[in-house]
Amino acid sequence: MMSERHTEQPKEATPVTQDRHRAVLTSLPFDDTRDFDDASRGFITSLPDVEIHNDRGRVIWSLREYAFLTHEAAPPTVNPSLWRQARLNMNNGLYRVTDRIYQVRGFDISNMTIIEGERGLIIIDPLVSAETARAALDLYVAHRGQRPITAVIYSHSHVDHYGGVKGVIDEADVRAGHVAVIAPDRFLEEITQEQVLVGGPMIRRAQFQFGATLFKGPRGQVDAGLGKVVSRGTVTLIAPTQIIREPVEVHSIDGVEIVFQLTPDTEAKAEMHMYYPGLKALNLAENVTHNLHNIYPIRGAQVRDANAWAKYIDEARDRYASEAEVVFAQHHWPIWGKARIMDYLAKQRDVYKYLHDQTVRLINYGLKATEIAEQLTMPQSLENEWPVRGYYGTLSHNAKSVYQRYIGWYDANPAHLNPLPPSERGAKLIAYMGGEAAAIAKAREDFAGGEYRWVAEIMSEIIFANPANPEARHLAADALEQLGYQAESATWRNAYLQGAYELRNGIPQNLMRAPISADVVRTLTIPLFFDYLAVRLNGLKAEGKHIVINWVFPDLAERYVLNLENCALTYLAGRTADNAHVTVTLARPVLSQLVLQQTTLTDAIHEDTIALDGDGGKLSELFELIDEFRFMFPILEPRQAS
Ligand SMILES: [Zn+2]
Repeated sequence: MMSERHTEQPKEATPVTQDRHRAVLTSLPFDDTRDFDDASRGFITSLPDVEIHNDRGRVIWSLREYAFLTHEAAPPTVNPSLWRQARLNMNNGLYRVTDRIYQVRGFDISNMTIIEGERGLIIIDPLVSAETARAALDLYVAHRGQRPITAVIYSHSHVDHYGGVKGVIDEADVRAGHVAVIAPDRFLEEITQEQVLVGGPMIRRAQFQFGATLFKGPRGQVDAGLGKVVSRGTVTLIAPTQIIREPVEVHSIDGVEIVFQLTPDTEAKAEMHMYYPGLKALNLAENVTHNLHNIYPIRGAQVRDANAWAKYIDEARDRYASEAEVVFAQHHWPIWGKARIMDYLAKQRDVYKYLHDQTVRLINYGLKATEIAEQLTMPQSLENEWPVRGYYGTLSHNAKSVYQRYIGWYDANPAHLNPLPPSERGAKLIAYMGGEAAAIAKAREDFAGGEYRWVAEIMSEIIFANPANPEARHLAADALEQLGYQAESATWRNAYLQGAYELRNGIPQNLMRAPISADVVRTLTIPLFFDYLAVRLNGLKAEGKHIVINWVFPDLAERYVLNLENCALTYLAGRTADNAHVTVTLARPVLSQLVLQQTTLTDAIHEDTIALDGDGGKLSELFELIDEFRFMFPILEPRQAS
């Protein structure tokens, strides 16, 4: 347990860091306070500290630990621009957006939008956890009255927009046809693709992006840019009953006319805007928020298309914004008034277009990703615009991501085609510098001069060569910490401070949640299940094995041949092999129980929920080759040999 050990405390901001903060204070328009007016406009009520528990009494969401943000002036350890955003994200409670549209904000990282229909309520994006979504709905009901839920709409395929669905509706009501569940094209496919194959590493890396396990405070986590942090409750999913497939579809949902505009390959691969013509309100999902978003989130993901992102904002602006009286999203606060809306959306459109085009322009001059990231600056006309500042994404890592989308990881310099891996590289490099002590002595001078980026990089070389060097670890932590204090981006701050924490104290052992929620496991297609099994195959142990297995799912009327050969696991759908070692017959729910470890292969065979015809030993032999992943792997130091 971490608490039994001495935890090293964070340090002060250095004079260099404090100078940087003073420069921020004089360069940005802190006297422009319209965001504070907009973020509190329409406020109705909230809960004290918004403290929400799960049914075991554990706090899974609370704003109490953010009470330090009541101070208006930023402390020396937080970038004043980020401090401003962190204060804005403290607005919480039930808000009236316009006639018949309400939002609950600050009950999770995302917003829940509630539209009052003819018969009941349309809920858009039920937060991350069933517990926070339930609390948000209860707050609405306490002030607007109890009405049935007639529809749930998922604006896109990220967990903070569907995970709490079972807190607001029952699956039985959906099956009985009482509640419509509406989602954009490819919604389920994108959820499962993203979460299954690399879901575990993304959760580990998300600890760095969101800082959820860091302590909250002026020297710790203050915000996540899009909102405070991600709640830690029960993640659920109910499959959609209605998919929006056409580029634009118009439906009347519970008497409310909704124009759905699909925006594939933007902030999410499956995402859509909504315009409500009768209410003159435009919902831009997560494509327009009060910060520069991520073309690539540092938790890891496939790179998004900044060009498409700009195009869909422009189309929404052209078609709908000109008649809208309010525009809002599923994070942050709305903007009211035609002139402000048009100006806001033009700047949002252009920040993504500029980022895309200028990166590609510099690629055409032969610049490398790191050179582009260093060179690219905001146009002056956007520089002082709060809603496009980099609290979540940054110009720097987004430019590298545009580069990666078009050109990939390789910078075309053959010296970088096959470099030594980190530990060998570190050992050689530090030896060339005259050894660890000499490198550390030089780095201490650079630290005094404020060259934290370089100090962190060189100390990392030593740590990968010799993770036991305490001086290198402490100097690296000190450098990362100052970088965190300086960062305007909440995600960069969290990453730097998480890094400093782990170098000083070791890796926290608390995994935020199971990498794949049980509801997602239940929605997996069989092909995706086999893909998941295949990436867990231990290639070394599989050497020389050839196993052929027929799989039959009578309840799905599906069959497959699974083939292990040359250390690779492949499958063919709709086939049965004559030469199979064994035929396995089981119902789809049994497969979920196996994946969720609610039963074992041996038990399922004994209980006859799995029937084997042939050499059952071959099935066991295959499962002995399947790895169990541990997700709390080291990131700032080499892995121990396993
Ligand atoms: Zn979101």
